[in-house]
Amino acid sequence: MALTRTAIVQGLQDILGPHNVITDAQELQRSSVDRLRLYEDVHGVYTRPPPAAVAMARNTEHVAQVLGFANRHGVNVVARTGRTATEGGLETAVPDSVVLDGSGMDRILEIDTYNMQASVQCGVCLQTLEDEARKLGVTTGHSPQSKPIAQLGGLVATRSIGQFSTLYGGIEDMVVGLEAVFADGTVTRIKNVPRRAVGPDIRHVVIGNEGALCFITEVTVKLFPYLPQNNTFVGYTLKDMRTGFEALRTVMVQGYKPSVARLYDPADGAFHFSQFAARDDCVLLFMAEGPEGIVRATKDGIEAIARAFPACKPVPAHYLEEWFADLNWGADKIANERKEILATRSMGRTTEVSANWSTICDIYENALRRLRTEVADITVAGGHSSHSYINGTNMYFIYYYDVKCAPEQEVATYRTEINRVICEETLWFGGSVVHHHGMGKARTPWVKEEYASSYYILERLKRAFDPNGVMNKGTIIPL
Ligand SMILES: Cc1cc2nc3c(=O)[nH]c(=O)nc-3n(C[C@H](O)[C@H](O)[C@H](O)COP(=O)(O)OP(=O)(O)OC[C@H]3O[C@@H](n4cnc5c(N)ncnc54)[C@H](O)[C@@H]3O)c2cc1C
Repeated sequence: MALTRTAIVQGLQDILGPHNVITDAQELQRSSVDRLRLYEDVHGVYTRPPPAAVAMARNTEHVAQVLGFANRHGVNVVARTGRTATEGGLETAVPDSVVLDGSGMDRILEIDTYNMQASVQCGVCLQTLEDEARKLGVTTGHSPQSKPIAQLGGLVATRSIGQFSTLYGGIEDMVVGLEAVFADGTVTRIKNVPRRAVGPDIRHVVIGNEGALCFITEVTVKLFPYLPQNNTFVGYTLKDMRTGFEALRTVMVQGYKPSVARLYDPADGAFHFSQFAARDDCVLLFMAEGPEGIVRATKDGIEAIARAFPACKPVPAHYLEEWFADLNWGADKIANERKEILATRSMGRTTEVSANWSTICDIYENALRRLRTEVADITVAGGHSSHSYINGTNMYFIYYYDVKCAPEQEVATYRTEINRVICEETLWFGGSVVHHHGMGKARTPWVKEEYASSYYILERLKRAFDPNGVMNKGTIIPL
């Protein structure tokens, strides 16, 4: 028989002590959603069932005991750290869930500048780790826009990626080892070594699991030399995205490794580059970093490639440097955004996908054409590419719409419809429907098409590690 809310709270209090179990009604409502339902949240409208409690874990033993308790009694558990999720990963899909919060596990365990790796608990904010690392002349190389708030547990759980990814890779390239707790309370550690060939790389069962397989308690990431004095920007305006993708591709396939490589279309660029770009300009920009010789060679190589594209007109580097300095999002920008949404009823949202070089521009053009004709109330639609690889790149669609429905209908009316168009076009051209924000619950309608025959592996993993289905119901795998 299912436990009552009171029994769940009592069970958690027995494990964690009453001071680590939150039952305040308002906090429970806010803990039922993430930024997917931001419009509902700012209006104080909550359509998801509130959890029975938020359980604040202070150590791995707490996590193991709470998961073991939930697993025995069939209670759904939603893992949480920095609360910046955008795709519904933090939503409590069923009544009487427990939100298991690891933000109190916030100790930096070691910054080892000899072996160039740092170990932290899951609740360490990335900005905190980065600040401490820089004091020692090293960097994590990880710089998502949410760096001031997001924490290492969530960053690993969502397969996050940062602005310097073209040089340092995504979080999957940075994680050396980790500790994770599975649904039955089993604590597992994957040790820290430079490489291994001892069967499948099981780090990848944990990285990107979004709390649907296990709870990440500790993470070790690589470190790199921090040499900001050598950072160099180059950028260009040009008139069409297809040429921009071609130039970007040439830089990548010739083997250059700028840390930042981005291509903005005019609609998206207008939010960032109005000091130097005309209304119909696309903007292609790069940052090179690292040892002086590598930076010089990277800059020279990119400039030589750009000269072969006469449409590319150079822009003064200081504009790019100034723009880049203000890109991250802290608590202040998030608070302002909430005020603006209430005042204007205008929502600005994003959907990020990836594809090979041969199809990315078709996805971009088709999706935008369909968004402008198929979805009502859109006021701006555009996008940029911000993470490139030897074989392709991502497309980060941005869109604004005026909300003309009740708060509780906003996600279904706009966000789901917009995702539908973008995901359909992406799948049609063989791309991936999520590049870095995670599946959450928002993009699960497309999970089977995304995985195709490999869905077998995903489903088996879920059944093997979460046989009672208590780990973040509805995330990655739909209810
Ligand atoms: C303004 C803004 C900018 C952003 N920019 C970027 C960006 O540049 N790049 C990028 O990749 N993402 C970006 N994101 C998305 C988000 O920040 C990332 O997905 C981030 O990795 C989430 O980390 P978090 O600590 O906030 O996790 P949370 O929001 O707490 O959780 C995210 C997901 O991970 C699960 N989870 C959390 N902790 C654990 C754990 N310990 N073990 C297992 N599962 C867990 C949750 O259940 C949820 O499904 C941005 C978000 C915002 C709001």
